[in-house]
Amino acid sequence: QKPSILVTGGAGYIGSHTVLALKQAGYDVVILDNLVYGHRELVEQVLQVELVVGDTNDRPLLDELFKTHNFAAVMHFSAYAYVGESVTDPAKYYRNNVVGTLTLLEAMLAASINKFVFSSTCATYGVPEVVPIPETHPQDPINPYGATKLMVERILSDFDVAYNLKSVRFRYFNAAGANPDGLLGEDHNPETHLIPLILLTALGKRESISIFGTDYPTPDGTCIRDYIHVNDLADAHVLGLEYLLQGGDSEVFNLGNGNGFSVREVIAAAESVTGLSIPVKECDRRPGDPPVLIGSSEKARKILGWRSQYPAIQDIVSHAWQWHQKRHK
Ligand code: UDP
Repeated sequence: QKPSILVTGGAGYIGSHTVLALKQAGYDVVILDNLVYGHRELVEQVLQVELVVGDTNDRPLLDELFKTHNFAAVMHFSAYAYVGESVTDPAKYYRNNVVGTLTLLEAMLAASINKFVFSSTCATYGVPEVVPIPETHPQDPINPYGATKLMVERILSDFDVAYNLKSVRFRYFNAAGANPDGLLGEDHNPETHLIPLILLTALGKRESISIFGTDYPTPDGTCIRDYIHVNDLADAHVLGLEYLLQGGDSEVFNLGNGNGFSVREVIAAAESVTGLSIPVKECDRRPGDPPVLIGSSEKARKILGWRSQYPAIQDIVSHAWQWHQKRHK
């Protein structure tokens, strides 16, 4: 019998894919999600695990949850993640992402749970000095969203020293794609991410896809990002959890493909996957976008034995396309 795991944000995009991977690996999973951005129907129809609707800022709820269950670890996905909104409404981000996480960690310590898997981000690096970015790269975020994630990383380091809280922090690059069997996918509202917006354009739901900046110092002038399949992220989380359950020390890992694709290359991949021509509009740069973000995931490979199953942009886009076609039938 494998232990019980609490997954916050398990009704969201990366969280839901990880819950499925945990279930398939034999874990007993409970989801805590406030359903602000999460999807109840995914939990009820696809994941079929216990859903507790509530907030990480609700300490009495957390105390009750930890009293009535026997969790071996907590995996923490729930956070607000719109970079632009974090600039215009930072209070919302600091309260939810930092204070909410602090409340969760304090409730865990009170219940003697000391294993934590945390969703951090390459946005904590800011504008990189070198690519591929190693975990040892300085962290200097350029927006409040990245700052909230960095603050939690600091809290985790300090809590390890003081309270023996062991954590795995994953710094994600660009999560993309969908469950290859079409069970789960990306469903943000509002949607701001490149691949879903391209596919919504292909479906005729939008007039064109905007290219934010065509004068970057890259071969085709558009930004280069490291797109990582969400199932590969989910697999890494199961490995990270097992590393902690086996007594592993706190660690931080990048999760990326090690491969970059430009905005134009992603659009070309989508045209080849869908067989449709996708209208583009060349626009100004979006503030706060570094020209190139590519991560080195050597460390996750070496320490966790993680391997990407779907490194090809074609597969990433094609799984996302399968999901979007089904969603918008
Ligand atoms: N992008 C774009 N048009 C869009 C959305 C995104 O050109 O409508 C670009 C964006 O500038 C970035 C890349 O696509 O270089 C990936 O953006 P996304 O918002 O998906 O992820 P981010 O890199 O911000 O985490």
